[in-house]
Amino acid sequence: MIGGAGVSSALARPARAVVDLDAVRHNARLMAELASPAALCAVVKADGYGHGAVQVARAAVAGGASWLGVAMVEEGIELRRAGIMTPVLLLSEPPLEAMEEVVRSSLTPTVYSEEALFELSRVARSSAARRAGDAGAVRVHVKVDTGMHRVGADPEDVIGIVSKLAAMPELHLEGLWTHLAAADLAGEAARELTRSQLQAFERCRAELEGIGVRPEILHVASSAGALAYPESRYHMARCGIALYGYLPSPGLADLARLAPGDALVPAMRLEAEVSHVRRARAGEGVSYGIDYRLPDDSVIATVPLGYADGVPRALSRSGGEVLLAGERRPIAGVVTMDQFMVDCGPRSQVRRGDDVVLLGRQGDCEITADDWAGILGTISYEVLSRIGARVPRVYRQGGESSLALGQEPDPGGPGRRRGESRMDE
Ligand SMILES: *Cc1c(COP(=O)(O)O)cnc(C)c1O
Repeated sequence: MIGGAGVSSALARPARAVVDLDAVRHNARLMAELASPAALCAVVKADGYGHGAVQVARAAVAGGASWLGVAMVEEGIELRRAGIMTPVLLLSEPPLEAMEEVVRSSLTPTVYSEEALFELSRVARSSAARRAGDAGAVRVHVKVDTGMHRVGADPEDVIGIVSKLAAMPELHLEGLWTHLAAADLAGEAARELTRSQLQAFERCRAELEGIGVRPEILHVASSAGALAYPESRYHMARCGIALYGYLPSPGLADLARLAPGDALVPAMRLEAEVSHVRRARAGEGVSYGIDYRLPDDSVIATVPLGYADGVPRALSRSGGEVLLAGERRPIAGVVTMDQFMVDCGPRSQVRRGDDVVLLGRQGDCEITADDWAGILGTISYEVLSRIGARVPRVYRQGGESSLALGQEPDPGGPGRRRGESRMDE
């Protein structure tokens, strides 16, 4: 990986992911207003779906998010090291060995096993002295699996876990939650599954109420639930993909309860400069292998991004395109590790240094992560989160740009808000 803070921008490769933090803020505001009075938890796992967790977290908080969600303890620590003090929910149960760090970094753990509960209790007790003067009990969210069967406690076991937790003064049950498996899909079977998950969650909540336990924060919805199932919003919506400007699935467009004119704005643009131009004849090959042959004489432009950067090798085989000189042009031959080629057509005036857009707008044309996802048989989430760490990120905010090489959080970066301070480590 190139970069790390301090690498001269003169060494930056002529390719970049431009992240529009104003778009993230706009999308967060839109989702916060939609979910209101439920709170917005901005999900910034996987380095903010490839956009940069720290920068996205700040923009989302500025747009109205009051929680952040991450998959891993390390991701939570990265936010704390950058000075972000917003509550951070761990969306999976932390490994037992990580509980100490969870408590030390004031991350909010999700728990669904007794082992994790007991370990967390032990750590909370042993560190009680160190946290003296702090808010006291460690806040915990219990997750119940209502039908997705990924992680979460069996609904029948929740009462047992919660009863034990209620007897531990060093812990406080702040949240109860579940995750929907098919809220992004249209069609009766998906709606039926969603309804049954919501009912299972309701039963669970009622059962806890029966023993006098009422967690303050019930949460079920991710972007899809927040958009399409108002009854799933409860006290908080955990939104990821919508913050980055995409619907969870293109099919959700008809179900999403966004007011007309309230469009989500894609936050990432992927662009590069042509690094080489060659003329080639009809029948000649391009890139590795012997299968791809130019249909006609043409001008071939090379683009310095490849599959190691998150431009999938398969993109070329199934009609992948880029924008060049305001037009769509086909990728020619397979994408290689660091570069790929574009068929610019026989009369192209393309020159080295010209701008190529892989994701984003140029002139009247636009290519989105949903377009790639359609070609590749995947979803925008995978396209975005795989844009590699080797691609320099440039952040735009309020008309200004700044370059962040590599994935080092930049504590002095432009998104830093007054009042945020570095946590003691
Ligand atoms: C990733 C994730 C989310 C965010 O989902 P989006 O569809 O991106 O809004 C919410 N909750 C959980 C548990 C997740 O793992």
